[in-house]
Amino acid sequence: MDSSTPDAYVYCFGVGDGWPNKERNHSSFLYRLEVNPILVDCGEPLSRTYLNAGFSYDEFDAILLSHFHGDHFGGFLMFLQGLWLRERRKNLKVYMPSDGIAVVENLIQVACLFKELMPFKLEFVPIRDREEFTIGAHTITPVRTTHLNSLRDQFHHLYPLRFDCFAFGIRSKHRYIVHSSDIGAPEDLIPLLNRPVDFMMCELAHFNPAKLFEMLSRYPIGQLRLTHLPPFLWENSQEVIDLGQKLCPGLNFSIAEECCALELPGDKSVMLSQSLDISKMSSSRR
Ligand SMILES: [Zn+2]
Repeated sequence: MDSSTPDAYVYCFGVGDGWPNKERNHSSFLYRLEVNPILVDCGEPLSRTYLNAGFSYDEFDAILLSHFHGDHFGGFLMFLQGLWLRERRKNLKVYMPSDGIAVVENLIQVACLFKELMPFKLEFVPIRDREEFTIGAHTITPVRTTHLNSLRDQFHHLYPLRFDCFAFGIRSKHRYIVHSSDIGAPEDLIPLLNRPVDFMMCELAHFNPAKLFEMLSRYPIGQLRLTHLPPFLWENSQEVIDLGQKLCPGLNFSIAEECCALELPGDKSVMLSQSLDISKMSSSRR
């Protein structure tokens, strides 16, 4: 990070979706708020992108894993190996859907990444729908999304799991952030929109983007950054921009790029963005 890096930002390690991709990495985001940074998801190749970004391995206080699809979880094991080898010192809680706790405990054992090897205390903590918890000064609200519901309906009789996937509200002193991770429909986010949102990172892979813009036109959102675009939308990103400007005039939004820091606006952002002239709005793919 150089001197031009803003005080509060989200560093996007990967903005790709679930398809193999030549251009984009898979989902991982570091929310560097005033204090207590949080890493959300560990899509690959996080161990490389994290090292390239130059962050300390003690940089973040906790990891949130939204679910276990490979594009959100696939880089976790190697990243954990990196935390061991690079000698992280700060204790680490990894919050994850409860289906995964025993599995990940076993996974690190067969990978010989024993907790006793780590120079820090490692703890896996289950996430439950709407049960808030704190990470340092921040309050996290996990909301279960419908992302995995169709798979649950098909396979629950064979695999009696919870099929949980979580979106997150992150409430800090000066900001309220909503991170969608994967959703089944934009309405999944409504429980997180009960207060003005300074910054929202929303995926676009699993529904018609028009539905998102139509819904968000009814809520105060300071800034929206779009991620997880499927290839056909990524290649036609100007159409997404045009659609958003048409359906949601006044909304400050753009498509997130990766391996860069996006400034997180503070608690005046919603009012400011609502008074902005649409012609001055950010519309480039940045
Ligand atoms: Zn995904």
